[in-house]
Amino acid sequence: MEREVSALLFCLLLLPPLSSLCGLSQQRERIRDAKERELTDAELEAIVDLNDIDRFDEYLQPMLVRRVSGSAAHAAVRQHIIDSLESLGWTVETDDFVDAIPEVDDEMQGTLNFSNVIGTWNRDGGRNLVLGCHYESKYFSATSGFMGATDSAVSCAILIDIAASLTPFLQEQQIETGLQLMFFDGEEAFLRWSSEDSLYGSRHLAQLWQDTPHPLNDSCTMLDSIVRRRHFHAIPPHLVFRGEKKLDEAGIQRGIFVPQELLVVLDLFGTELGCSGCTRVLNFFEITSETYQEISTVESRLEFLGLLEPHQNDRTYFHPDPMFAEGFLEDDHIPFWERGVKVIHGMPFPYPPVWHKETDNADAIHWVTVENLLRILRGFTAQYLGIQPLSSPESSPPLFK
Ligand SMILES: [Zn+2]
Repeated sequence: MEREVSALLFCLLLLPPLSSLCGLSQQRERIRDAKERELTDAELEAIVDLNDIDRFDEYLQPMLVRRVSGSAAHAAVRQHIIDSLESLGWTVETDDFVDAIPEVDDEMQGTLNFSNVIGTWNRDGGRNLVLGCHYESKYFSATSGFMGATDSAVSCAILIDIAASLTPFLQEQQIETGLQLMFFDGEEAFLRWSSEDSLYGSRHLAQLWQDTPHPLNDSCTMLDSIVRRRHFHAIPPHLVFRGEKKLDEAGIQRGIFVPQELLVVLDLFGTELGCSGCTRVLNFFEITSETYQEISTVESRLEFLGLLEPHQNDRTYFHPDPMFAEGFLEDDHIPFWERGVKVIHGMPFPYPPVWHKETDNADAIHWVTVENLLRILRGFTAQYLGIQPLSSPESSPPLFK
């Protein structure tokens, strides 16, 4: 037994730390305890002051249309996302590709053009915290009026609004970690959910980034630019759990194995949370459980301080207790998680009552919940990045339009 433990320790010592494999992490090593990063009460108050529901609504309204992949309306929504981020001074790229789709009807079959949008604020090209959503709406039929206000226009508007409010701080303060937003295309299945018919955009982008050397260091891939939070100290349980050979020496040498990154995917936000019968977000991933709990702690502190809009709070929006069921719900985080990226799946479960119904329109939006979600998720993002919200930026923020 003892010999086995020693052998294991020996192997772990032999295993090179990720920093020696990928220069990006040497450049920006930062290991801090969750407590050290916690925003003070006054800082949480400052975060709440950054909320501006009219600004959020300006980002949201152009997305409240039927926006099926490949359609003109979808292209207009994509342009709105690009314009919004570029007007904030962000770098915006698209990942355009063609993929085959199943034959749904006369209108929808053959191949389709897809386009992921990636917005980045990163001063020196190092690692990023990534927030993601899918911006297309599901195709049901040529005559369907399904718009998907909560699936996932609201989540995408939350991402842009977080960017708008935090950009002035990212500009003025020495923030070690960049912030990146991914707007995925083609999350929805066209016919029946399967490994080929779903997650078109996230599958393409994850593979592309696994294959693309990082511009600053070709021993790193683009996947390495998603931020690493803590020391590499063990084989991530989810890789062992899946029984797949992700952790092999060749993979480490190629820099493909990136166990310490974080991608937070938001989906299906917008309906009421907090009431006793309401759906809630669950803590699904053991490897990111602690980070997930930082979100639920921000929520409970805001609640305790009276900094959330009054709402039914029979239950918290973000349920802190572990409920580890990795991969149980497939969404845009899966292709990244399968490649060793640490993920949080921020999505209410069970699905909200309007899910995949035509009633998922503007009327389905519960504004108090959205206002509170903005406070919680803005607080988490600021805390994670180490933003100091009390020192007000000198230059005026380059706000939308
Ligand atoms: Zn959906």
